[in-house]
Amino acid sequence: MRVETLRAGDNFIYVLVAGQRAAVVDPGVAGPVQAFLDAEGLTLELILLTHYHGDHTGGVSALRRSGCVVAGPAGGPVALDRVVVDGEALDFGHSAIEVLDVPGHTAHDTAYCLPDEPALFTGDVLFAGGCGRLFGGDAAPMWRSLCRLRALPAETRLYGGHDYTLDNLEFAVHLEPDHPGVRERLARFRADPHAAHPSTLAEEKRTNPFLRCDDPALAATIGMPGRDVVAVFAAVRGMKDRW
Ligand SMILES: [Zn+2]
Repeated sequence: MRVETLRAGDNFIYVLVAGQRAAVVDPGVAGPVQAFLDAEGLTLELILLTHYHGDHTGGVSALRRSGCVVAGPAGGPVALDRVVVDGEALDFGHSAIEVLDVPGHTAHDTAYCLPDEPALFTGDVLFAGGCGRLFGGDAAPMWRSLCRLRALPAETRLYGGHDYTLDNLEFAVHLEPDHPGVRERLARFRADPHAAHPSTLAEEKRTNPFLRCDDPALAATIGMPGRDVVAVFAAVRGMKDRW
C-alpha cells in the first residue's frame, strides 16, 4: 500500500494505491485526483469520506462517475453506496480499513485506520500539531475522540485533512513557550516542512497540545492546575480559535 498526498489549497487529499487499484480519502476537488489516477493508470474503486464539509466532498460527484463505491458515515448530504459504522472494517487491496466514530468537529466525523501500515486518516478531527474546530459540538465528545485516536499504536502515521501545521506549531510554542519538545518540533518543521509529513502519533502525543490536555504541566502553564480535563481542552481550543 502506498499513500500519495495531493494538495488542494490547504486541504490534503490522500490516494491509497494497491497495485493498479486506488482509494481516495476526502476528495475536496476532482481535478488533481483524476490527473493522478490518469498519470498512474489507476482504477478508482473507493471514496472514503470523513465528514461532510464541502472542502472534503466537492470532488465526489465528478469522481463517482467512474463507478467507484462512495463510503462515509450516515446522516450527511452525500448519497452513499456504503454507510460505514464504528468498528467495522472495509477491504481494500490486501488491507483492512477500520472505521472509527470520532465526533466533535461535526456530528459525523469518522476516522479510517489501516492497522497493517499502520496509517490513520483523521479528516478535521486531528491534525499535525493541532485539532479541528468545534462546529456545533461541545468539547467533551471531541476530547473523547482525540483520546481514542491517541490510544492507537504510537508508530501510526497521521494523515490529517489540512496542512495547518506551521500555524498549529506556532500556536503550540505560544501556549507552552518553555516546552523544549514543542520548540524543537517547530524548528524542525521550519527547516524541512516536507520531511515532517506524515507525522506519527508518537510525535503528536509528545508535542500536540490538544492531545496533552490531561498533562498537569500544560494545565499549570495556562493557569488551570487541577481543573477538569474537558475544561482545559475547551480553554485551549478557545485560545486557538481567538489566536
Ligand atoms: Zn471540516
